[in-house]
Amino acid sequence: MKQYKVELNKKISLAKLDPNETGDFDGGKEKGLKAIEKLNAELQELQELLYAEGKHKVLVVLQAMDTGGKDGTIRRVFEGVNPQGVKVASFKVPTSEELARDFLWRVHKVVPGNGEIVIFNRSHYEDVLVVRVRNFVPKEVWSKRYDQINEFEKILADNGTLILKFFLNISKDEQKERLQARLDDPSKHWKFSLGDLNERKLWDDYQQAYEDAINKTSTKYAPWYVVPANRKWYRDLVISTVLVDALKSLKMKYPKPKDNLDGVVIE
Ligand code: ATP
Ligand code: MG
Repeated sequence: MKQYKVELNKKISLAKLDPNETGDFDGGKEKGLKAIEKLNAELQELQELLYAEGKHKVLVVLQAMDTGGKDGTIRRVFEGVNPQGVKVASFKVPTSEELARDFLWRVHKVVPGNGEIVIFNRSHYEDVLVVRVRNFVPKEVWSKRYDQINEFEKILADNGTLILKFFLNISKDEQKERLQARLDDPSKHWKFSLGDLNERKLWDDYQQAYEDAINKTSTKYAPWYVVPANRKWYRDLVISTVLVDALKSLKMKYPKPKDNLDGVVIE
């Protein structure tokens, strides 16, 4: 899965990456789903360890075009993980209170604490994506934000935060199918917003904004992964694998007991 990590000195071009691919995974969907189940069990154990040890913090950033699968990823990858130690923070259109402050104010308030995993469903990256594409602020303002984001994430990393950022890469055709499916199914109408069609018209501008954001903010301490996301099972497999590997690399240990328990007898 290493091939999806955006390396420091290798710029990516989204047009050259295939959202349909399933890498060198041989086995297809059925085997993929079995592998995800195993990874999910590992993730549950690692999360328990993270919580018990209370030393590291984990921040997972999910970004995607509309219908890209952020919600599905959260549901599937984190299924069964103890809700005590996992939170989801969703970033919507900023409120007037948020707009009156710097763009990181609302973000910094909800970063993970010791032993916690926080999943960002959209994130501070919206401030160099929709904000840039829609000209909500002038270029002089948004163009400075890449460095500001890198500095911000450096502070988090220096304070014990493992940061993993995922761009769920779907194709324009796949988005059309997913939007159509929402339109055809009355139980999915609540997810359909006419505004999504306006954003779809700006597909190319968004691709450019994503490409720039990913290339300018993939760092050693907070790397981006561009995940082929047309096939949902493969998307989940990639993200689960990256997450489990990263958590394992923390070499966490259950804490020693507070008291000496040798010879303790419960009567
Ligand atoms: P779904 O994919 O299920 O529709 P969503 O994440 O799109 O979920 P919505 O409530 O539909 O949730 O949309 C949130 C909207 O808020 C998005 O259009 C996003 O671009 C916008 N948004 C988020 N952050 C900002 C920001 N800083 N400035 C302007 N708009 C933002
Ligand atoms: Mg939406």
